[in-house]
Amino acid sequence: MTIELRSDTFTKPTPAMLEAMFSAEVGDDVFEDDPTVKALEEKTATMFGYEAALFCTSGTMTNQIAINVHVKQGDEVICDALSHIYLYEGGGIAANSMASVNLLQGDRGRLKAEQIKEAIQPDNLHHPITKLVSLENTVNKGGGAYYDLSDIQAIKQVCLAHDIPLHLDGARIFNALVETNDNPLEYGKVFDSISVCLSKGLGTPVGSVLLGSKEFIKKARRVRKRLGGGWRQAGYLAAAGIYALDNHVERLRDDHARAKVIGETMAKLPEVEEILPVDTNIVILRLNEKLLSSDYVQQLNEKGIRATTFGKHLVRFVTHLDFTDDHLEAFQKKILQ
Ligand SMILES: *Cc1c(COP(=O)(O)O)cnc(C)c1O
Repeated sequence: MTIELRSDTFTKPTPAMLEAMFSAEVGDDVFEDDPTVKALEEKTATMFGYEAALFCTSGTMTNQIAINVHVKQGDEVICDALSHIYLYEGGGIAANSMASVNLLQGDRGRLKAEQIKEAIQPDNLHHPITKLVSLENTVNKGGGAYYDLSDIQAIKQVCLAHDIPLHLDGARIFNALVETNDNPLEYGKVFDSISVCLSKGLGTPVGSVLLGSKEFIKKARRVRKRLGGGWRQAGYLAAAGIYALDNHVERLRDDHARAKVIGETMAKLPEVEEILPVDTNIVILRLNEKLLSSDYVQQLNEKGIRATTFGKHLVRFVTHLDFTDDHLEAFQKKILQ
């Protein structure tokens, strides 16, 4: 039995999800004529209290479209140094939007209002103009850390005072929401745009949704087309998204519980120096200095456990829909044998 813990993107659609996909009613989404895509967009927008939404191929695409709509060439984006938008989107901020980035050091990827206030550039021609603040929740590189809503609300106040939009990379927003029990409508009030992934913990094969005002999404739709992201009978994929929102949100708690057990199991090993707090479905461990994560991941692989290197001595495990209690038991046996 191979234990897949490289990412929560490795899930395959369940039979019930496939059935929902097979029976979807579809049309040409470039003509805004796919009823299932429209239903997914409306459902997600309503859930978070937005006017509109745009279904796209990936979280990278929804983030990069949002950045492109919010900023102009030479403007500055403020984000944490661990941000996915900066580290893992192929240099897209520079390549797509020709914008500058101001990287701040947060707490496991989470920023505070005071830091952002200090980082916003004064009105002086030497500096780029700060035109966007982007947060990530949960933080991938921060080991699945999530924000307190009150901290986000304080950041919003700073953004409002400076008339700067606030974007959320919410690739794993539902992992945060099931832990905090926050109402998603509160998120809609503070963020000008949110990117939500359906292909991570929610378990669809493809797709992310971008949320915002009608005017924002109209511009986003144009950028999506320009990037080659206009798609036709995308309703087959949207149907998987609708199914996931109805059936796969609450079960994220199981992923979080299993991640905690993985953390506890790995903590028993002598070669493991530290486990980052396991807040959601991501476990990051630090090996002792003599051990390279690339070698260690190879050793795990030989035992039938798939994990990823996340730095010279850091290893990441991510739990997901296809990682069951049976897999967890097998994992523990393989690790402790
Ligand atoms: C996975 C992820 C994304 C989007 O990734 P895609 O593979 O492009 O869908 C964005 N932000 C974070 C934090 C992620 O973990």
